[in-house]
Amino acid sequence: MQAAAGTRRQGASWLSMAWRAVTEPSLVRRLLVAQMGLLALLWTVVFIYAATENGTDSPVLKETSVYHAVAAVADDLADAPARQYHSLAALDAAIHQRYADAEGVAELAPGLLVLQRSAVVYRSPHLPRGADAESFVASAVSDARRTFDDGRQKWRVRVVTGTSGARVAIFVPRGGWHVLITLASHGYYLAPMVISLPFLLLPAWLSIRLALRPWRRVAQEVASRGPQDLAPLSYRGQHQELAAMVDSVDALMARVSEASARERSFIADAAHELRTPLAAMRINVEALHGQTADWRQRELLEGILSSGNRAARLVSQLLVLMRSDAAASLGDAGALLSLDELLQDRMAVMSGLAGARGVELELQSVAGVAIVGWRESLVSLADNLVDNAIKYSPRGGVVRVGLWHVEGWAVLSVEDQGPGIAPELRSRVFDRFFRAPKQEQGGSGLGLAIALGAARRHGGRIELTDGEQGGLKVEVWLPAA
Ligand code: ADP
Repeated sequence: MQAAAGTRRQGASWLSMAWRAVTEPSLVRRLLVAQMGLLALLWTVVFIYAATENGTDSPVLKETSVYHAVAAVADDLADAPARQYHSLAALDAAIHQRYADAEGVAELAPGLLVLQRSAVVYRSPHLPRGADAESFVASAVSDARRTFDDGRQKWRVRVVTGTSGARVAIFVPRGGWHVLITLASHGYYLAPMVISLPFLLLPAWLSIRLALRPWRRVAQEVASRGPQDLAPLSYRGQHQELAAMVDSVDALMARVSEASARERSFIADAAHELRTPLAAMRINVEALHGQTADWRQRELLEGILSSGNRAARLVSQLLVLMRSDAAASLGDAGALLSLDELLQDRMAVMSGLAGARGVELELQSVAGVAIVGWRESLVSLADNLVDNAIKYSPRGGVVRVGLWHVEGWAVLSVEDQGPGIAPELRSRVFDRFFRAPKQEQGGSGLGLAIALGAARRHGGRIELTDGEQGGLKVEVWLPAA
């Protein structure tokens, strides 16, 4: 039961996928439909042209031997009218069978009219009655093809005079519709188109897909770009339509890049300008704090100091972020650096902070880990990770920092004994200004964004996992030199 329901569901989803593929707007399908439509139109036009050209003179009108056979029968049996009529009727039936349309549409069948000494000796039942047709045949120039209008429809007629004077006329209905009905009833029109269109579809589809290949390549390149990558597209083709679009995209990217550079430099300038008044405020508040004996005032001043410190840290983080973005977009080449030495320096600098927070710092590093990179950027990477580990560690906790070589990568790991980061938040903590909810520690939400920017600038990545000590383990993978 369940298996059957599963198969049905699968069938339904397959159907809905196929339905979506057919109904979803697609340029390839538009081109295909346009191509096939044009082809059918062209086919119809050519066919109508060919059909009217040849159809006006149906093949039976060209068969002189048929005329002579009819004339011979009429002449030879002139003395026996009954047998003459009978034989002419048989010949008429033969002509009808040979030249009428296969579906037996009576109006399209050729008709026979035989005159002997100006009297009608045989007339096909469906031919127009009356003197008009007879006088037309009697007066027609032998062998010429002419058009006769009986008031209801037009006929194409050829009259041939036999050796003994019998006039044999074959009438063929004419007119565009008749021609088309004849052709359609013979399957001449639709059959070739119905047969050939499916065979044309595959090559047409293939050719369109081939022609659109550069287009798809450009789309893939645009899709693979990161938000910071605003360099011109690599497409260098000359295809008119695509080149115009690529030029527009390049121009747009240049404008966006300029705008974001202006924005970055504005934020960096603002951050830079804010540093001086913040530092001045801090000095003044510290001086005031030293002069005040009142504990309530001292408490208030300490509050101002701690807020000022937070603001100063945010401002300096903003400055680092904007500077590293700007440097990355300038694309200046990095230098060969010893990561283990850089890390030892930073650990020495951070040990003061760790000591003040009652956290122990441990460094385990292999020697000679070199990478090509930017010192300032790597310093802010290491500082932010170690700073976070110290900040979120409990008093008396241990922060383990390690550096290894793993298959062409330099791997820097920072592990603490703090609360860690819930798996569902791990991708979001790299967003600028994102802070985990209910955070007791102060912070701006920029530290991990700065660290990720620095890692990416070096062609690396950052992974967050559960540490062995119960806290967070941050691993930074950077390509080793
Ligand atoms: P900030 O620490 O200034 O809030 P970050 O960008 O450095 O900003 O970190 C973003 C968020 O990730 C933090 O708010 C915190 O919730 C979480 N986080 C970062 N590092 C750690 C860590 N070592 N242990 C626990 N949580 C962390």
